[in-house]
Amino acid sequence: MKAVRGMHDLFGAEIAKWKFIEENVRSVFAQFGYQEIRTPVLEHMEVFSKTVGDETDIVEKQMYQVQKENESLVLRPEGTAGFMRAVLEHQLHRDSSCQRYFYYLPMFRHERPQKGRLRQFHQFGAELINDSSPEADAEMIALLNAIYKKLGINEYDIRINSVGCAECRPQFREALANFFKSHLNELCEQCQKRFERAPMRILDCKKESCQAVAKSAPLITTCLCAPCNEHHRRLKTRLEEAELAFIDDPTIVRGLDYYSKTAFEFTSSLLGAQSALGGGGRYDHLATRFGEKPFPAVGFALGMERLVIALEAKNSLPILQFSPMLYLAALGPQSLDVLFPLSLVLKEEGITTEIPYDSGKSLKSHLKNSNRLQCKFTLILGEDELKKNVAALKDMEKQTQVEISLDHLKIELLKRIKSEH
Ligand SMILES: [Zn+2]
Ligand SMILES: [Zn+2]
Repeated sequence: MKAVRGMHDLFGAEIAKWKFIEENVRSVFAQFGYQEIRTPVLEHMEVFSKTVGDETDIVEKQMYQVQKENESLVLRPEGTAGFMRAVLEHQLHRDSSCQRYFYYLPMFRHERPQKGRLRQFHQFGAELINDSSPEADAEMIALLNAIYKKLGINEYDIRINSVGCAECRPQFREALANFFKSHLNELCEQCQKRFERAPMRILDCKKESCQAVAKSAPLITTCLCAPCNEHHRRLKTRLEEAELAFIDDPTIVRGLDYYSKTAFEFTSSLLGAQSALGGGGRYDHLATRFGEKPFPAVGFALGMERLVIALEAKNSLPILQFSPMLYLAALGPQSLDVLFPLSLVLKEEGITTEIPYDSGKSLKSHLKNSNRLQCKFTLILGEDELKKNVAALKDMEKQTQVEISLDHLKIELLKRIKSEH
């Protein structure tokens, strides 16, 4: 039996890399005052069809469905829709103060697996609700920036744009539709279908032929209403004040059409071709897709697998080996009688120990094992030591050895090993 295609087991050196990234990202969320939220893996189909949009690839063909009794459930393909469902269910938006959440969750999409794109993948995300100001958008961008800096990634561009609002977007849609109408036969089959319902999504098509057409498409910036323009101007001022270098890029529209006003992407060449490390935007009207009143919200998501690739490209992931402090070598069953209970007591005291339960091993093989594990100390207890009522503590690095009386073994070990920390 093998794991499902596009889904990976994580263990050994790989898990060490993941933990390094996870701990660092979590520490930045804590610094910025973001609380964790965990939503279920399974959601009702409507959570995504209503928000992400029926006409998107995600809803059309990438969702894993689970049919149980009369319920049509799906495995979460992205984070924001489930977050919004949870906010509305628990009325978190009724608290008028600004609230900050982050998530770190597995996502599932049935796509063709390739480097950096798996069928089970993992995303960090941040969501800030109840604040409509450009400062909230600037905070999001600063937070994402702080995450990359914390991980030692500096090779990226911050690209920002305004995708307009309910007032000004219809004009842009119309301008786009008119433009693509005259280029229909140059577009891929999928974009020809998109043309009617979601012309903005053609801008996101990765096919070269479509990108070539999109290059000369009208820009959203020419259609923005006065409030959208002012919001975008203030965001840029805030980023400049924070000394966050950015590129004003009118081609950033993001695939999901629930965004309004600010959209942003962090792009990097660490992933091979210049592509997105992470990104997000404002989604003030998403709640209306659930039939609720709108409230301000802005967020971003970043893929864990992409972070791993970026850090591997830089060669800056630690190779962590778990090395116990103390190796307990029990030579003979009587020795094991002494060392087994001792090992449990020491673990509780915070001393990591390794103790093989096969008491028939030779001293030579124990020492070899201890070296391989890079243990700091080895405690040797054989027949000779038992007769003298002592155990021998060997410092593996210094290659020195001292005898410790079995009567104060625990206290002596704690004293000597803790002084090494
Ligand atoms: Zn507008
Ligand atoms: Zn296309």
